[in-house]
Amino acid sequence: MKEPAFTEEDRRFMRVALDLARKAEGAGEVPVGAVLVRGGRILGEGCNRPVASADPTAHAEMEALRAGAGQLENYRLPGTVLYVTLEPCVMCAGALVLARIERLVFAARDLRFGAVRSKFRLADSELLNHRLQVEEGLLAADAGSLLANFFEKRR
Ligand SMILES: [Zn+2]
Repeated sequence: MKEPAFTEEDRRFMRVALDLARKAEGAGEVPVGAVLVRGGRILGEGCNRPVASADPTAHAEMEALRAGAGQLENYRLPGTVLYVTLEPCVMCAGALVLARIERLVFAARDLRFGAVRSKFRLADSELLNHRLQVEEGLLAADAGSLLANFFEKRR
C-alpha cells in the first residue's frame, strides 16, 4: 500500500492525538486520542474514556466531535479534519458521516472493529449521502505500539 503524502501539519496534529492517547492510557483507558482541526486550528480534543465516564460512547472521536461542535455551535462540521490514532469503530464512523467531516486521518488499523477500512467502509460508502476522504497509516507504528504495550500489560 502506498502511503499518502502527509504534510508536516498532519504529523503535528497526529502527534497531539498520540499525546491524548497517552493521557487516556495514564487514566487506565485503552490509549486512543483524537483531534478535530479546521484551518490549521484545533477545535476539539478527545481522549478515550468510556470506563471512567461509564459511557460506552465516550470514544476519543466522539469527545473531539462534541468539543468541536460546541466550539462552532453547529452540529455539522464541514471543512474539518479529524485525526485519530486508531481506525474509528462503527459508531464513530457514523458520527463522522453525520457531522459532514471532510477528511479523516487515522494512524493504526483496528482489525476487530474498524469501520472505515478493516471491517466496513462506512466513510466512503456509496449508500450514504456524505463521503469523507480517508487517509491512513500516519505514525501508525507509534499508535500501534502504544496499544500493543497497553494490552500486553493488562494480560
Ligand atoms: Zn468509536
